[in-house]
Amino acid sequence: MSFADLGLSDELLSAITGAGYTDPTPVQKQAIPSVLMGRDLIAIAQTGTGKTAAFVLPMIDILGEGRTRALMPRSLILEPTRELAAQVAENFEKYGQNHKLSMALLIGGVQMGDQVKALEKGVDVLIATPGRLMDLFQRGKILLTGCSLLVIDEADRMLDMGFIPDIEEICTKLPKTRQTLLFSATMPPPIKKLADKFLDNPRTIEVARPASTNINITQWVVPVSAQKKRSVIERLLNGDEVKTAIIFANRKTTVRDLNKSLQRSGFRSGEIHGDMEQPQRLAELDRFKKGDINILVASDVAARGLDIKGVSHVFNYDAPWHPDDYVHRIGRTGRAGATGVSYTLVTPDDAENLDNIEKLTGQKIQRLDMGGAPAPEEAPQEEKPKRGDKSKTARARKEKAPARAKAPATIEDAPEAPVEARAAREERPKRDDRSQREERPQREERPRRDDRPHAGSSRRRDGEDDGPDDGWNGPIPEFLSVTFAVE
Ligand code: AMP
Repeated sequence: MSFADLGLSDELLSAITGAGYTDPTPVQKQAIPSVLMGRDLIAIAQTGTGKTAAFVLPMIDILGEGRTRALMPRSLILEPTRELAAQVAENFEKYGQNHKLSMALLIGGVQMGDQVKALEKGVDVLIATPGRLMDLFQRGKILLTGCSLLVIDEADRMLDMGFIPDIEEICTKLPKTRQTLLFSATMPPPIKKLADKFLDNPRTIEVARPASTNINITQWVVPVSAQKKRSVIERLLNGDEVKTAIIFANRKTTVRDLNKSLQRSGFRSGEIHGDMEQPQRLAELDRFKKGDINILVASDVAARGLDIKGVSHVFNYDAPWHPDDYVHRIGRTGRAGATGVSYTLVTPDDAENLDNIEKLTGQKIQRLDMGGAPAPEEAPQEEKPKRGDKSKTARARKEKAPARAKAPATIEDAPEAPVEARAAREERPKRDDRSQREERPQREERPRRDDRPHAGSSRRRDGEDDGPDDGWNGPIPEFLSVTFAVE
């Protein structure tokens, strides 16, 4: 089945060819005809499957007919994070180049004035994070009664971030007769409930087993002691064919310290985490996309959905605490048919995390023995290769190293980094000591109304949700202001 068979307009087909796509992906094949027919849709699809184009493409053709009205957007796309919202906006620009549609992006961290001006003119597409949208709605700056198409993207992520009450409220402000599309990587019961309540006779499609990992990604677990993490990561970065890499850490302090340490060692690295202001985060992403830096040290703020072409490697400096974060993190490589490699450093304390990851993904991840530490469940401490026992680690490496990867030298060859003593203390925080980790609200710990981002509080949950209106400090990128093809 080709794009032409899906019922899309010639203008859109020409933009798709311009984007370099030859065939629709499975989620596009299944979703596009249903959306064009006006049906509600539940799509269980992960990022990396082409799901954004699965709703953006038919939306462009649907909205191609009709006119905008001041303050009344014709369609609304809800995204859990600012980065994802900005990315969907980029998709509209790319695919909508032959259409005269107007768009506004409504996200926290950007001055409201420009966003309000765009809305006042009237927009075909409004892309928003729930917190900022509720804020503007409560100020009477927006009417959702003309909004006949709603997309709830990354619904399970919205749930994790405590946005479901906002989404329910937003749904009640839209006209009852509308088309609603819900995209989610998984379908936990609260999302099913939301769909039952707000979607009308939806078609359900599923394109990948929830939480399955991409077969194009060669995955490795590297047993390591906490003290050796820095030197192991440097050896992996040096020894493998790393072109561009994202290194994930669980805590913001680790992200900052690791980035500094890598820079001191001469790597071209940058960082992204929830303590940074939005313009800084976007600027850092931009440097990474442009190739000014080739290593991005990140917290889970960057794990989901971000689509950066050609990331050859993902490193988990810390094994993620939530197994679904593993799937999202490594999904930053091996995108759009490319191959990728992931390495997850695992200390003996991570045994349970690793176990949970393997249970969720349904596969045992191959071990790469770099002599740093025994895998917690495989070997007792005393069987760890001794310093200088290079023959053992070299042999193990030769047997286990992936065919394409250049084998790293043994860790015993690496000088001890002075910062490693600090790294050793970076243990998983105890229940009452989580101030430095990237907070991820648990499903059962939804924020109280007043804690939610739009409630005017200066508190920010972790920076990846819709934070306070702290203004835009730098030049606004073109895609953040108004948008493609002004009427
Ligand atoms: P998404 O799942 O929306 O994050 O998309 C993942 C990547 O797939 C993005 O880089 C898209 O540009 C790319 N993509 C989307 N549709 C296609 C297609 N039909 N053929 C090739 N690449 C695509």
